[in-house]
Amino acid sequence: MKASVEVMRSYDYCQFRVGLEEELAGDGSTYDEQVRALQVSAARLVDEAVERYKQDRKMERRCRNCGNEFVAEDAAQQFCSEACRDAWHADVGACEEA
Ligand SMILES: [Zn+2]
Repeated sequence: MKASVEVMRSYDYCQFRVGLEEELAGDGSTYDEQVRALQVSAARLVDEAVERYKQDRKMERRCRNCGNEFVAEDAAQQFCSEACRDAWHADVGACEEA
């Protein structure tokens, strides 16, 4: 018999999912105890994944408009400055919205 658990977290519109499965140990622990232990492990793994994701969000990007490198403050930021964002949208916007 196998114990299996799945833990899900949502963060910033992303879903993080960790599933663990383990053969039941023959060490006298009950099925419930082992499932709970697995849940704790899975929760820790998924929390680590979210933390990594948070770190990665603050990463260096290259501005889509001018090509300069900058450190993005949120996942959606693609431009080094508002001026670049405006310039890029002014350039491309006309085509994309047509
Ligand atoms: Zn720029």
